[in-house]
Amino acid sequence: YTSTTPTPVSTVSQYACQRRTTTQNNNKIFTDAFEVLAESHEFNDMEGPCLAFRRAASVLKSLPWTVQNLRVTEDLPCLGEHSMCVIEEILQHGRSFEVEKILSDERYQILKLFTSVFGVGPKTAEKWYRRGLRSFSDVLAEPSIHLNRMQQSGFLHYGDISRAVSKAEAQALGNIIDEAVHAITPDAILTLTGGFRRGKDFGHDVDFIVTTPQLGKEERLLTSVIDRLKHQGILLYCEYQASTFDESKLPSHRFEAMDHFAKCFLILRLEDSQVDGGLQTAEEDRRGWRAVRVDLVSPPVDRYAFTLLGWSGSRFERDLRRFARMERRMLLDNHALYDKTKKEFLAATTEKDIFAHLGLEYIEPWQRNA
Ligand code: ATP
Ligand code: MN
Ligand code: MN
Repeated sequence: YTSTTPTPVSTVSQYACQRRTTTQNNNKIFTDAFEVLAESHEFNDMEGPCLAFRRAASVLKSLPWTVQNLRVTEDLPCLGEHSMCVIEEILQHGRSFEVEKILSDERYQILKLFTSVFGVGPKTAEKWYRRGLRSFSDVLAEPSIHLNRMQQSGFLHYGDISRAVSKAEAQALGNIIDEAVHAITPDAILTLTGGFRRGKDFGHDVDFIVTTPQLGKEERLLTSVIDRLKHQGILLYCEYQASTFDESKLPSHRFEAMDHFAKCFLILRLEDSQVDGGLQTAEEDRRGWRAVRVDLVSPPVDRYAFTLLGWSGSRFERDLRRFARMERRMLLDNHALYDKTKKEFLAATTEKDIFAHLGLEYIEPWQRNA
């Protein structure tokens, strides 16, 4: 190898949980292109190619150097023929014509617009598109379309919640939730998770885990927090899901399965005066507040480490589950770790315990931006 590749590429693992990925992306020009290709395949219901492009992007994000020639990519995992072509195009022309074609495609643009609404997934977006709807006003004017509560609030707060949440705003929300949680249960445990725990500067929402040292009291804590936020007049939207957790069940075989703990998806009203550094837009200047998406999940305390690891998110977490299953004959999800060889559950009180059970080197949250 030449001196342009400081890391021997042969050491890059196919699993994101064996790579260290900070928020510094040295290959953004390539990974942005892959994200567009992944999304466009998702819109066309092509799961295989979608996943392939997401994995390819994740590998490039982990590199401490920028790809400068096609030669170095040959030894990297998860880069198929198609990904290589895209890299080659970008290396040669500074851009990918295939990606540009997608970006200028009407169907892609409209599906992207529709799925940017809270509560609207690719299926719903596709349904609206097939009905000939091309804009928000088309959707809102169509009498035969019934919007669910989530979608209604998605449209109502569209401007606010489609704008990124800053670290200072996440911090301010942390203070609000912290106050509410501890007013209800003084020894409650509250942890920031999701993208902000990974050290991101911006997010689409703010994620928290809340639990209590007393096993079984966690669900009541969450409903009390919701009630308190409501009485404070800052609860703009709440979708609460009660726990369906069954500890006798094995962890899910699906890589991207949702968990069964009590949780809620919220939209909260955040006053500018509560945020260090203040305002972002002129409109807010007049209004003095913005709406922010917040997720709370409330696992029993003995499942806290699994939930923290799971909700810290990114491809990292998906690949942890894949690694556990493919390389260790174990099943991991947000609730538990099960060893299929020993036929037993493996307990954990910290994330480090889980990495140790899996025989993996511990990777810090800020190195999990896969
Ligand atoms: P962003 O900064 O854009 O919010 P993020 O990494 O925080 O990025 P989220 O969509 O907030 O992304 O998800 C974080 C993690 O929370 C996911 O990886 C997943 O494990 C968990 N999660 C999100 N939604 C659910 C849900 N409905 N049920 C269970 N777990 C969820
Ligand atoms: Mn998040
Ligand atoms: Mn979230």
